[in-house]
Amino acid sequence: MSKHIRFSHNRNAWPTLPDGSPLARYGILEGDRVYETDSLWSTEKLGEFPLADLRLLPPCWPSKIVCVGRNYVDHAKELGNPVPAEPLLFYKPVSSLIASGDRILYPPITQMVSFEGELGLVIGRQARHVPTESAMDYVFGYTIVNDITARDLQKKDGQWARAKGCDTFCPAGPCIVPRAELEFDSIRIRSWVDGQIKQDGSVRDMIFHPSVIIAYITQFLTLEPGDLIATGTPPGVGPVEPGNTVRIEIEGIGVLENTVIRG
Ligand code: MG
Repeated sequence: MSKHIRFSHNRNAWPTLPDGSPLARYGILEGDRVYETDSLWSTEKLGEFPLADLRLLPPCWPSKIVCVGRNYVDHAKELGNPVPAEPLLFYKPVSSLIASGDRILYPPITQMVSFEGELGLVIGRQARHVPTESAMDYVFGYTIVNDITARDLQKKDGQWARAKGCDTFCPAGPCIVPRAELEFDSIRIRSWVDGQIKQDGSVRDMIFHPSVIIAYITQFLTLEPGDLIATGTPPGVGPVEPGNTVRIEIEGIGVLENTVIRG
């Protein structure tokens, strides 16, 4: 697997670094070594560094994060929601992105924060009015997303700007694996809270395949390289509390792990 990452040599960078920052760099992760590259897409290796000396950043810096709600039948049912007839979309602000290892802030405006382990799609080339048949050609690769949600605000507000958009509510990473290197049907999403398994889902249970999602989205907006799509969560979501650590694993991509703190 080619594991594409973003990183900084400044270990104290907080909370995140936009693409334009001179501190944000790209690389390929191999074991505990990082080989710097000149872009997210590049595999030409430049400098080499130990991973331990670097700070991992969110794996891409999108112009937008588009998310799909209720894309697994059993998850829609567990929250008492109807199964949607077409993709149910919402956005998370780019300012909510954090990397694996960063802290999730539990804000005082909510009393019910939930994790949602999801497969993330990272767009590789500009996509507009894309047919389903060729939609996957526009996907550079796969990553892991934790669609953190303030469940009480989601119910109270009706629309989801606060519930889904708080600072730190979009952990993503640790890396991007190119689409061709991972067989989609074999992708399994597992989540743990403090070592207790909560989710064990297969992307084969998605209601809308990523190709359908991309075709649907690009009918009304243009997806740009680096844009991130969160494809929905399998059943098993639940609350987290300050002090909990959420670990989401997709074999081949790795582990996205974040601890919750008050903030
Ligand atoms: Mg979700």
